[in-house]
Amino acid sequence: MFLFKKVADLQQYLQKVSKEGKTVGFVPTMGALHHGHLSLVNRASSETDCTVVSIFVNPTQFNDKKDLEKYPRTLGTDIEMLSSIQTTVLFVPSVEEIYPKGLDTTLDLNFGQLATVLEGAFRPGHFDGMAQVVHRLLDIVKPDRLFMGQKDFQQLTIVRSMLKQLNHKTALVVCPIIREKDGLAMSSRNRRLTPVYRKKAVLLSQILSKVKSNIDNRRPESMSKMAMKTLTEAGFRPEYFEIVDGITLQPIQHFSDATFIVALTAVWAGDIRLIDNMILKEAQKAVLA
Ligand code: AMP
Repeated sequence: MFLFKKVADLQQYLQKVSKEGKTVGFVPTMGALHHGHLSLVNRASSETDCTVVSIFVNPTQFNDKKDLEKYPRTLGTDIEMLSSIQTTVLFVPSVEEIYPKGLDTTLDLNFGQLATVLEGAFRPGHFDGMAQVVHRLLDIVKPDRLFMGQKDFQQLTIVRSMLKQLNHKTALVVCPIIREKDGLAMSSRNRRLTPVYRKKAVLLSQILSKVKSNIDNRRPESMSKMAMKTLTEAGFRPEYFEIVDGITLQPIQHFSDATFIVALTAVWAGDIRLIDNMILKEAQKAVLA
């Protein structure tokens, strides 16, 4: 595995790759890697000739400075994990490499309501920062395929919109959520959960599954209310539990209102914020590629 810290060095390497007619797959991450991340890397390696993984904790997408400071950083272990699977290149840039003085990296795109609901309502500015860094990284790596996880469902929706608005040549590949044995969606933040909250956190996927198995019997709104109540009673501070149209991210009134329906939730487990989601109905598999 090659490790690059400088944009210029990575690009020099990737020019050779491109001259050889090889395809490039890209997996952007913020590090503190787990098997969810590795599933993306494995998928990229199976579909492209050269897999580039980036580790960059992007300051512009953190609306909460403390969250940025506390974000787990485990580069040594990350390198070991990536070396054990088929990763071609690891890119670990500094903030100055991604946002050099004099380079305007701001993005003038309009995501409309896609960016203001759900996560957008609770993390103002988050998606602007996320889109900015993904765009900058795509500009550097110029991959044929971009591999991202369904775990961050709204992020995917926004990246898809960005690629469409820019008529970008990179194809987005969506990878399923990898979960712990008890159902908890893998996340870099899980390692910061207290043992009590780690045990309780199984409730998120349990409620999502319960909602999924009851879509023929109840109304979306009453299910969301029930889920918020159950999460609160279990000691979480839920920010939202919403059942939405998977394309527009707007809440639905009836399960017959859309062909692609997703339930999404965000909760505070002590001072750790967890997100999870589940597709409840998916008429056209192609939507998630
Ligand atoms: P992050 O490092 O949290 O920014 O995540 C980097 C990429 O890994 C994003 O595309 C995430 O959606 C994806 N990812 C994170 N957790 C999981 C998971 N449990 N299963 C699959 N993909 C994941």
